[in-house]
Amino acid sequence: MTGPLITTPVKPGIHARCGATVLTGHAEGLRARVDLVPLNRAGEIHVLCAGLNTYTLTRDGLVHRDAGRIAGTALTGPVLAEHACHRQVPADQRATTTPTITPRTEGIPY
Ligand SMILES: [Zn+2]
Repeated sequence: MTGPLITTPVKPGIHARCGATVLTGHAEGLRARVDLVPLNRAGEIHVLCAGLNTYTLTRDGLVHRDAGRIAGTALTGPVLAEHACHRQVPADQRATTTPTITPRTEGIPY
């Protein structure tokens, strides 16, 4: 895709100012640099209240999450926050990769 609203694949890198590992790319024409910690809904709200942008990491690159995309369910993929140096994400604001459904072991006859 070429043009002013280009989305490019992300590239890993090191932020020169703080040394953190970040992903960089263009999200619909906007240069984006994000942290690697995926956020849950509470984490995204905290990031937005701090005045930072959030992005969804897709196969093609980063997609900026505006109000419609945040409210919608069309985008699947980890939600990543715009990089801010030395910002720590509390454990309760991180997305978990563990399944929310616990396996049933009761009633299995073997
Ligand atoms: Zn930094």
